Amino acid sequence: MKDLHLAGIKASRTVLDLAGATLGGREVMLMGGPCAVESAAQMYQAAQTVSECGGKVLRGGVFKPRTSPYSFQGLGQQGIQYLVEAAHAHGLLAATEVIDPESLNLVAAEVDIIQIGARNMQNFQLLKLAGKTDLPVILKRGLAATVEEWLMAAEYILASGNPRVILCERGIRTFETTTRNTLDLGAMLVAKGLSHLPVIVDPSHAAGRTDIIPGLAKAAVAAGADGLLIEMHPNPAEAKSDGPQSLTPEQFKLLATELVAVAHSVQRSFAGPVHGNTLAALRARIDIVDIALVDLIAQRMQLVQHIGWAKGKGTIQDSAREASIIQRLRHAAQNMDCSPELIEDLYSQIFAHSVQIQAEIGAKGPVSVSKTEDNVRKGELNICSA
Ligand code: PEP
Ligand code: MN
Repeated sequence: MKDLHLAGIKASRTVLDLAGATLGGREVMLMGGPCAVESAAQMYQAAQTVSECGGKVLRGGVFKPRTSPYSFQGLGQQGIQYLVEAAHAHGLLAATEVIDPESLNLVAAEVDIIQIGARNMQNFQLLKLAGKTDLPVILKRGLAATVEEWLMAAEYILASGNPRVILCERGIRTFETTTRNTLDLGAMLVAKGLSHLPVIVDPSHAAGRTDIIPGLAKAAVAAGADGLLIEMHPNPAEAKSDGPQSLTPEQFKLLATELVAVAHSVQRSFAGPVHGNTLAALRARIDIVDIALVDLIAQRMQLVQHIGWAKGKGTIQDSAREASIIQRLRHAAQNMDCSPELIEDLYSQIFAHSVQIQAEIGAKGPVSVSKTEDNVRKGELNICSA
């Protein structure tokens, strides 16, 4: 792809620092809020939910680019105040869409992040103006834009002097009619491969319906999205726009809870719902972590036993392998802000117990073991003391 002078892949990925939270690094960032800002109370409730769920950004539209001129067009300037006050009162960043130079001028000094919507992805004048601000820009992929066109739109913003661009895949128009659009996770991955910029996913506008949003959101994080932008309304039935695709606060919270494990499974982190910082709440959380730790250690010791059977009477201690495990885990610990020394100490205990278990297995006399990889994995070892 030519002309990706600034948006094209570099030696390192761009990690944006958004008031202390990072986007594009290890953390998965959750952004949420209603499609349109409607009232102070609505925004306050939405902000409370986003912050309780571990989200960092409250997004709500005050200038809405609607397909029909008769649909609600947004509250305009009044809405900016509702959005910003609610966000900041909850320690969140405020994000809103800009649709033209005038709306950009109105919000630029007020909000923390601006969004350029799908319908304006190739509004080159607007892209250039967004590039002249110092605000992070969420750049949605156009309804029928190729990845190249999307990245070239990002290039416009970067070339105008603003390096803080966040790409957002939000579904493209296809022949499918059961969903509003088709979420293109392939394009999200291609964009991540071709560019150093963070890429987030908006499953709400892709789906157009709430039932499949949690699945799409989890798939996006599992696939490597740096963040999610999800529509949530305190009362979707009353929403002035995009109600059918707006999660309730309860659905949003459940999804946020599920995302914790999904992020973890792909070596990313997402803190998830905050349960308060009282001593009792923190101890309740640590109790859950402790049980999970014991469960993982138990699984490890079972594998140690299987490996012991597979080794039979062979050499038990393999110092070279122990050293390489320690080296790998120290490195992983460092990347997770955990003390490498703690992990090394813990593993010296685990190795000592493992050697003891395998020594006992080895001492039980010749053991005939079916050593095929598959059998070891399935735990279907054919042991016969003979
Ligand atoms: C929105 O985010 O509310 C919106 C209008 O999105 P899109 O530009 O992706 O349609
Ligand atoms: Mn919307």
